[in-house]
Amino acid sequence: MKKVIQCPCGTVIEGRDDDDVVRQAQEHAKQVHQMELSRDQALAMARPA
Ligand SMILES: [Zn+2]
Repeated sequence: MKKVIQCPCGTVIEGRDDDDVVRQAQEHAKQVHQMELSRDQALAMARPA
């Protein structure tokens, strides 16, 4: 199932499944926010697309 995470900065991250959206969110958090995002944190922000 596709998942979407809307980052507080306004970026929308879309993944084809949980693993994909989590990976992209972790990458975004690290590169843009210098933040380590856990899988649980990312999934808590994810909504079905
Ligand atoms: Zn962001």
